[in-house]
Amino acid sequence: MRTWKQVKLARIILVGKKCEECHRKLKDGEIIGHHVLGKEFTKKENLYLTELCRLRCVDCERALHQRYPGGNPPHLVQEVKSLGLYLMGV
Ligand SMILES: [Zn+2]
Repeated sequence: MRTWKQVKLARIILVGKKCEECHRKLKDGEIIGHHVLGKEFTKKENLYLTELCRLRCVDCERALHQRYPGGNPPHLVQEVKSLGLYLMGV
């Protein structure tokens, strides 16, 4: 089983060291690995998929958590739904 740290590193390799919301370049210590779906919204075996990690700066992470349930804007929920990773009502 992967750890969240490994998932975050895989995401960094995929998209680079940046905030995926505001596209600001980030240093190692500034990168937050946001988990798009918690265990109540996806299957246990999907929890550590790279697709469910989004890199964010602290400002975007805080702002999105204040604005949207789970810190996930609608476009992000749509994206994971289209990947078949979102379980409604589970
Ligand atoms: Zn940002």
